[in-house]
Amino acid sequence: MSQITPQPGIMDISLYVSGQATVAGKEDVLKLSSNENPYGFSDAAREAYIRAVQNLHRYPNTDHGPLRAAIGEIHGLDPARIICGVGSDEVLQFVAQCFSGPGDEIITTEHGFSMYPILAKAAGATPVEVPEKDRRIDVDAILGAVTDKTRIVFIANPANPTGTFLERDEVVRLARGLPENVLLVHDGAYTEFVEGFDGGASVVDDCPNVIMTRTFSKIYGLGGLRIGWGYASQEIIDVLSRVRQPFNLSEPQMAAAIAAVRDVVFTERCRADNARWRDWLRNALVQMGVGCDESFANFVLARFDSPEEAEACDAALKEDGIIVRRVAGYNLPDCLRITVGDEAACRRVIHVIATFKGMR
Ligand SMILES: *Cc1c(COP(=O)(O)O)cnc(C)c1O
Repeated sequence: MSQITPQPGIMDISLYVSGQATVAGKEDVLKLSSNENPYGFSDAAREAYIRAVQNLHRYPNTDHGPLRAAIGEIHGLDPARIICGVGSDEVLQFVAQCFSGPGDEIITTEHGFSMYPILAKAAGATPVEVPEKDRRIDVDAILGAVTDKTRIVFIANPANPTGTFLERDEVVRLARGLPENVLLVHDGAYTEFVEGFDGGASVVDDCPNVIMTRTFSKIYGLGGLRIGWGYASQEIIDVLSRVRQPFNLSEPQMAAAIAAVRDVVFTERCRADNARWRDWLRNALVQMGVGCDESFANFVLARFDSPEEAEACDAALKEDGIIVRRVAGYNLPDCLRITVGDEAACRRVIHVIATFKGMR
């Protein structure tokens, strides 16, 4: 036996399972498993990225000043209170690393994003899973689970994979109901899909124990580039900045992100198209007798009669080259999460499910 042993908790981590990308023997594959933008990404971001290639021999800017300024300007936030990371996952990791450790508890919810328990364990802390109510975050259940060991609460709003939304009053009630030394992480990966929503920024301004995280991976269509950010009090940002590596983001990454956040026309078009086809998809599912809550994100959660039916429908979709996400690992064995694609993708997915259901 080797004497080289990992820290406690590390070997309890189950490896993250990402959305499948290929189907053996299929060419015309439609990937609806990772909530990617079917319209790609902004042309302005593409041009900025290509231009930035000129300077690959130079180390990147370490303080992300121009990117934070652009984000601050577009979203009306103080750039000094923004921190950028390699995807919002890295910002979430800074939070777990800085504010929890062995003996501490981190609250996650029944159908919460699977990165949260991974990040908790990586920091040596213990994830505590709290029930939801009909696939919605239950503020009272979270408040009831707080102990003197609790340090962090992770919620995504809109939530993934349920797509449900917690109203601002409820988020504020949660933030104010927590002890003052417990940090609420409001993960806003799907913020831009909710018309007029600020992602929790105003809750951060009202409640000093809240951090909002955001990403360029979803509506901006830059998941492959890995850029995210967080917004919190100056005090919290100053803590997180100590563990951030100075060169965590490259210049092409930052240049693309700056152009993307400024391309509000592209973003708005994606939001509107997503809303239209998301509602169409949900109606079509419901008409076939497949359960589906109203979604506030860029996916829908289709609820079948049993885990077996969900599995069989997944197989039928795969047979047609369509990849969706099984979510049994999220305590949703009877469900499939389907990313909202473009019109053709939505029609294709509904055609296959209708045939599967014997309705066509
Ligand atoms: C996709 C997603 C993220 C974003 O991750 P990145 O690291 O920014 O790509 C964060 N939280 C949730 C709930 C997500 O679904």
